[in-house]
Amino acid sequence: MAEKKTKKETAPKKKEATKATAKAAPAAQKAPAKEQKKARVGVFICHCGTNIAGSVDIEDVQEYSKSLPDVAFADNYQYMCSTPGQKKIADAIKEHNLTGIVVAACSPRLHEPTFRTATKEGGLNPFRFEMANIREQGSWVHMHDREGATDKAKDAIRIAVAKASMLEDLFPKTVPVEKAAMVVGAGVAGMQAALDLANAGIKTYLIEKNPTIGGRMSQLDKTFPTLDCSQCILTPKMVDVGRAENIELMTCAEVEDVEGYIGNFDVTIRRKARGVLTPDEAEAKGIVGGGCNGCGDCEGVCPVIKPNPFEMGMKPRKAIYIYHPQVVPLIYTIDWDSCIKCGLCVDICGDKKAIDLEMQDELVKVKVGTAILATGYDMFPIEKKDEWGYKKYENVVNSLEFERLICASGPTGGHLVRPSDGETPKKVAFLLCAGSRDNTGVGKPYCSRFCCMYSLKHAHQIIEKIPGCQPYLFYMDIRSFGKMYEEFYYRIQDEGAKFMRGRVANVLEDPVTKNLIINAEDTLLNRPINLEVDMVVLAAAVQPAEETERTRKLFGVSRSMDGWLLEAHPKLNPCGTTTAGVFLAGVCQGPKDIPDTVASAEGAASAASIPIHRGEVELEPYFAQCIEEKCAGCGMCVNLCPYQALALVEKDGRKVMEVTEAKCKGCGTCGGFCPGGAIWMQHFATPQIIAQIDAFLVGGAK
Ligand code: FAD
Ligand code: SF4
Ligand code: SF4
Ligand code: SF4
Ligand code: SF4
Ligand code: SF4
Ligand code: SF4
Repeated sequence: MAEKKTKKETAPKKKEATKATAKAAPAAQKAPAKEQKKARVGVFICHCGTNIAGSVDIEDVQEYSKSLPDVAFADNYQYMCSTPGQKKIADAIKEHNLTGIVVAACSPRLHEPTFRTATKEGGLNPFRFEMANIREQGSWVHMHDREGATDKAKDAIRIAVAKASMLEDLFPKTVPVEKAAMVVGAGVAGMQAALDLANAGIKTYLIEKNPTIGGRMSQLDKTFPTLDCSQCILTPKMVDVGRAENIELMTCAEVEDVEGYIGNFDVTIRRKARGVLTPDEAEAKGIVGGGCNGCGDCEGVCPVIKPNPFEMGMKPRKAIYIYHPQVVPLIYTIDWDSCIKCGLCVDICGDKKAIDLEMQDELVKVKVGTAILATGYDMFPIEKKDEWGYKKYENVVNSLEFERLICASGPTGGHLVRPSDGETPKKVAFLLCAGSRDNTGVGKPYCSRFCCMYSLKHAHQIIEKIPGCQPYLFYMDIRSFGKMYEEFYYRIQDEGAKFMRGRVANVLEDPVTKNLIINAEDTLLNRPINLEVDMVVLAAAVQPAEETERTRKLFGVSRSMDGWLLEAHPKLNPCGTTTAGVFLAGVCQGPKDIPDTVASAEGAASAASIPIHRGEVELEPYFAQCIEEKCAGCGMCVNLCPYQALALVEKDGRKVMEVTEAKCKGCGTCGGFCPGGAIWMQHFATPQIIAQIDAFLVGGAK
């Protein structure tokens, strides 16, 4: 076996738990150096019912563990994470005078905190614990190879023991938390989260990139399954947000930069030049009684006409505009890309002096303790699936366009008409799963979760509004999983909607009538379908909003393969992220209907308020530390640190590197780089890693 010569390298003197502020580099209070005891490691092997024991020979693994160097005790139990399982660990630490613990079970993501607590209860420092994953990386992936899974479990335990025998006491650091929060995105999720935080007494910055709040919900006509008017239930919330004392609403705004860590995020916000002053902004400039009052006179005189994106381009707007009459805040906005700076709006605005054609973007800096991302979704560009004729045939629309066409405040005043000729349709086909549940590589593999239900709603709306009009729904499955949803499905069947099970192969247009011919297969009756309709509505997939990628990178949040923001744990921490202090609300995490969106927003707000109310948080002590005797002061690590945690300082007449521990995320970049080996990564120190590699390569029975 390779000699553990690496043990000669020692950690810099340790720091005790300190109360560090974000501003100053924490003071290094030195802990009395402990005498290095001979390592006595305890190994605990979990059966996880038959999850592990079904494919791993537990007895064999336990006997093998006992044979490893430094192992003083080995045991196994049905469910190590249970109370008796944890007690076994605590008792064994005392009984066998253990110095390190290895639990061979599942992933640290699930139970590291559980076993740290058990280790602490046994009287050891909780960071003297190491986990060997023999379930996700062992029994589950080698289910049919008992011998192989058993051998792999032995390898994993041997490697973990090599590290556990070298673990040291570590002490978390406590940092104060700024009593303010930020919510990015002001759809229904962001608004709900901001209102909850504000009602809990927390100052909340609500950042929205559009000129108004409300998000996609404000584009909807009615909402399933209760069929209440979307704007009627949303507008009071929008007004509450606009009025809430604790909410500082910034529209036409985007996050530009984020620095810091939980409790102390320094966020730079770009407030885009709106071209129009609010009354408060006018007052600040000394314009008495000035600022925009929403009278709309400027819109009347503006000569430039553009399509209104809120109306899905089906209604025009001017270069100075509001999306719709219920906008919050009721302030006009200039579209700089189309404004010709003719000045007509300035003239008509007169004494209110609200319009400033030279306005520039502003950068605003705020400090917050926690943040919630609620950036929502966009429609998948369904023209990519060209077999269904979107953007090719005039009478093929997507579902959001349908919402505007059927909405009383929409471009046609709520009269559903064919875009090609303005005629009322008599037959309308709804194509479900359009671009969702699609493994062709063009569409999205996931289910968009709300399109079954809104297509049922759309079928109901045309039956209600257009007597004699027949809706046809082409579906793969109807997923009506929510409260009163299945009942809603029955209701629409009873109302006379026709359901055809099968994915539509293609849609063709009759060039004369502009009618559409649907070619599909009815997979229940096993027969082909050729159906001529007046209009086709594509229940298009949804995807993360355009700016999500940039925003998530700024906050250091991960994403899943399909682009939705990744929660810390899908079941046990669905609102949290792997970046401490950053939470998720609404559809940015994955498709959700309004009830689920609001519930997730309330969950995120509650989670984001906890550190703020506690006033301080503990940071994992996996910091880099400088071994000053070895540091040549070259400064090369300083620029490498992605979190600006390093700086060169003058000490005893020479330059050495210093770590601001509260900023260090323990990523290891500097530790891996330093040419002189002057950086000690706590809990992932070079000697520990080398010992693990040795243990893997050489094996190690006593
Ligand atoms: P969004 O509404 O998308 O809001 C996100 C907000 O964040 C937007 O205002 C956006 O401008 C802003 N934003 C995005 N990126 C940034 C950034 N980087 N910086 C700042 N701001 C940003 N659900 C129901 O329960 N009932 C229904 O009847 C129903 N009908 C539907 C019909 C259709 C056609 C569709 C497509 C969906 C329907 N839904 C329905 C689902 C509903 O729209 C969503 O559940 C809800 O809108 C999700 O809200 P959200 O706040 O998560 O996202
Ligand atoms: Fe299963 Fe992990 Fe609990 Fe063991 S510790 S029973 S592997 S969940
Ligand atoms: Fe009226 Fe002036 Fe506001 Fe235009 S900018 S809506 S004219 S107050
Ligand atoms: Fe419209 Fe721009 Fe002319 Fe104002 S200056 S009226 S916004 S084109
Ligand atoms: Fe298809 Fe329904 Fe899922 Fe939408 S919700 S992707 S229509 S199964
Ligand atoms: Fe010191 Fe190493 Fe950083 Fe250079 S790279 S300043 S030697 S810690
Ligand atoms: Fe920066 Fe090094 Fe800490 Fe990574 S480990 S955050 S590079 S100081």
